[in-house]
Amino acid sequence: MKAIAHIIAGKALPGSGGTPVFNPATGEQTGQVASGGGGEIDAAVTAARAAFPGWAATPPAKRAKVMYEMRRLLEANKDKLARTISAEHGKTHTDALGEVARGQEVVEFACGIPHLLKGSFSKNVSAGVDCYDERQPLGVVAGITPFNFPVMVPLWMMPMALACGNSFILKPSERDPSAPNLLYELWREAGLPDGVLNVVHGGKAAVDAILDHPGIAAVSFVGSTPIASHVYTRGCAAGKRVQALGGAKNHLVVMPDADLDQAADALMGAGYGSAGERCMAVAVAVPVGEKTADALIAKLKPRVAALKIGPAGDAAAEMGPLVTAAHRDKVSSYIDAGQAAGADVVVDGRGLKLQGYEKGFWLGGTLLDRVTPLMSVYTDEIFGPVLSVVRAGTYEEAVGLINANLFANGTALFTRDGDAARDFAERIQVGMVGINVPIPVPVGYHSFGGWKSSLFGSHGVYGPEGVHFYTRLKTVTSRWPAGLKSGAQFHFTER
Ligand code: NAD
Repeated sequence: MKAIAHIIAGKALPGSGGTPVFNPATGEQTGQVASGGGGEIDAAVTAARAAFPGWAATPPAKRAKVMYEMRRLLEANKDKLARTISAEHGKTHTDALGEVARGQEVVEFACGIPHLLKGSFSKNVSAGVDCYDERQPLGVVAGITPFNFPVMVPLWMMPMALACGNSFILKPSERDPSAPNLLYELWREAGLPDGVLNVVHGGKAAVDAILDHPGIAAVSFVGSTPIASHVYTRGCAAGKRVQALGGAKNHLVVMPDADLDQAADALMGAGYGSAGERCMAVAVAVPVGEKTADALIAKLKPRVAALKIGPAGDAAAEMGPLVTAAHRDKVSSYIDAGQAAGADVVVDGRGLKLQGYEKGFWLGGTLLDRVTPLMSVYTDEIFGPVLSVVRAGTYEEAVGLINANLFANGTALFTRDGDAARDFAERIQVGMVGINVPIPVPVGYHSFGGWKSSLFGSHGVYGPEGVHFYTRLKTVTSRWPAGLKSGAQFHFTER
């Protein structure tokens, strides 16, 4: 069985304790990951602190060379990375390849770091006085990441933090830790000096040690809302800069004038892709009007029932298993609760078994109709292949439903009406909005982030927001002796 170790100061450290790691398709334990705490975090901070001055002083153009090389290595190793992701996460191979590609986009953006760090300069702000500003790295920063994108989410953080001149400690999810370790190997091969990047595995003990450690200047977190809230509160109380991205409940509104075939295609991919284990998955379809709802259900029902479910090696599979048996059981129990509360189970994925993979963590695609906002299947983030249909009488009712929701990561409107599209984009209280685009994840040169309990903190991740989060502004005002008038000044003067 594979032992997955911490990596501190360039060395693998087996560590003590351990958490089992499973192949979700077979249900077999395939490894054990080290479980770190205060000692390992302290060692990682020591290594990162020692490496920081040299890395921060490395010219941005040289740091960019590491980014270019990392880009090449990601391309060359994408298949290996994708297989490593699928073996512990369960997602299909093509989906895992897509994850690598989205992470690579951020590395590509970070290749432009010399330009991104350029400050501004104002000559003669007063007679003989010049003013310029620059963005300086923070020091040692940490990233805590979820199971659902073990490569992409670390790559939302690492390229930006490193390119800006920080050293970085990654605390990946304990459920699929092999891919982050492989990512580390690639960064090292790309030329990153030892200690600039460290990986400490573990759960709550490691996270709390990061939040409390005085040597860590900033923390980026991506995960569920309760933990995001804990990370934000505790990290801020310890004086750190914190961005904590939380959970989601994304709605897709289908207007009566929408192309229903396009809307159904969108709901299939966004609802069931990656078995619904995406923070930008669509969990709720909101058809406007009974006629739209009936027609949409008629289109979705046969397609959900015919979803191809299988292990990552099956090229025809459209989705894989859930990540753990416990998560599969939890998702299944939400379907039970929805049914008990009066939802129509149009397609039931409970109890799915796959021949040859009887112990895998399978759950079939599930479609629930006539879900209401008070049901737990609606109020809670389920994170599984369950699409709930909440029927809205009017467009205003659909907007009100979304704006009343505590989560506000992504949303979409399907329509042919430009007025409705413009109004929706303007009034909807959600961070990322799609118009006829079901999963509006911004490209690498924009920034990603939700509102309300989907993001605690004032910065999104990657893109320009990433540069701002991982640097702080310094403004220098200078006058040289030749321009100095003699005599002290005790009051502001007009310039
Ligand atoms: P999670 O919150 O269980 O875990 C996230 C991280 O927190 C992991 O590294 C985990 O080890 C750590 N952790 C778990 N319990 C902890 C505790 N009690 N105290 C301190 N740390 C703890 O999330 P997950 O199940 O790995 O991932 C799925 C969640 O992540 C979903 O809610 C999903 O919406 C969210 N997510 C959000 C985004 C986004 O951009 N907003 C992106 C991806 C995933």
